[in-house]
Amino acid sequence: MNEELEKIECLIIGSGPAGYTAAIYAARADLKPVVYQGLQPGGQLTSTTEVDNFPGYPDGVQGPDMMIDLQKQAERFGTDMRWGIISEVDFSKRPFLVTSDDGKKVQAETVVIATGATAKWMGIESEARYNGHGVSACATCDGFFFRGQDMAVVGGGDTACEEATYLAKLGRKVYMIVRRDELRASKAMQNKVMNTPNIEVLWNSVTKEITGDGKVVTGALIENVKSGEVRQIDVQGFFVAIGHKPNTDLFKGQIDLDENGYIKTVPGSTKTNVPGVFAAGDVQDHVFRQAITAAGTGCMAAIEAERFISMAE
Ligand code: NDP
Repeated sequence: MNEELEKIECLIIGSGPAGYTAAIYAARADLKPVVYQGLQPGGQLTSTTEVDNFPGYPDGVQGPDMMIDLQKQAERFGTDMRWGIISEVDFSKRPFLVTSDDGKKVQAETVVIATGATAKWMGIESEARYNGHGVSACATCDGFFFRGQDMAVVGGGDTACEEATYLAKLGRKVYMIVRRDELRASKAMQNKVMNTPNIEVLWNSVTKEITGDGKVVTGALIENVKSGEVRQIDVQGFFVAIGHKPNTDLFKGQIDLDENGYIKTVPGSTKTNVPGVFAAGDVQDHVFRQAITAAGTGCMAAIEAERFISMAE
């Protein structure tokens, strides 16, 4: 039975900057990596437009184009790129038994988990319509496009506060749209927001609609849930910062996760609590969440997988 199983030295689950970078390094180390690309080949960057902060692209690059470049680079060194989703893992013993959604089972000596995280959205129609055209879930990525302009940030957690204070430095005015009458964020972040003169917090407020000219965002309709009053704000950038969900449902019970579902890694490395299983990118990082940091940890994961295999031999 076992003889029929495909044996893989390095299985990479996920195809964002972390997964593809792990593949480039693993392929060049002759680990013959197999990448399962998952639901959204290329990951979160395939739903953004301009990427201006990834080193090496002096004129910027479209997110989807960058991911095609990364895929091609991984393939150039012989990465086996596969459409499909991993639906089951068994990390209880090595080699690890992994099943894809078409029922295929493989045995992997090492696994790099790079399944990323998914930004949460409010779920209103206009939010999806203007995504990438004024609506964003990443201030560090897209704030620059709105410098000198007015912006809104939805959310009351640490991320929303951090994004609002970051955007306040770039823009003229930032509205924070908070659904309750208090912030969830840490006291330090709350103080930062309150001490930033060009942030106006709209308490007890929800977004009815993001308005635009059919091409880009021009404002939003905000309802005060206490008074029922609806007001129009004029903004060019609309940032949704209501949390992320790490894509780790598959690994529950197999690997240590933190209280928010992110994979726990040993500080300064991509090692998880299961020897031979490594985690890279946003699936283990709720702080930085950048393509370049994801790529960096993808590189680390491949190097650690290669070292793990050579020690095991
Ligand atoms: P959180 O889950 O902490 O906060 C989400 C915020 O969004 C809450 O204020 C919540 O409101 C609000 N919200 C949720 N859904 C909606 C909705 N549909 N419409 C409007 N508002 C909504 O997420 P964060 O991303 O802020 O933080 C995640 C974790 O990362 C936290 O543990 C945080 O402390 C940590 N973090 C730490 C940082 C740091 O230390 N520098 C920086 C960033 C994050 P409500 O409060 O009413 O539920």
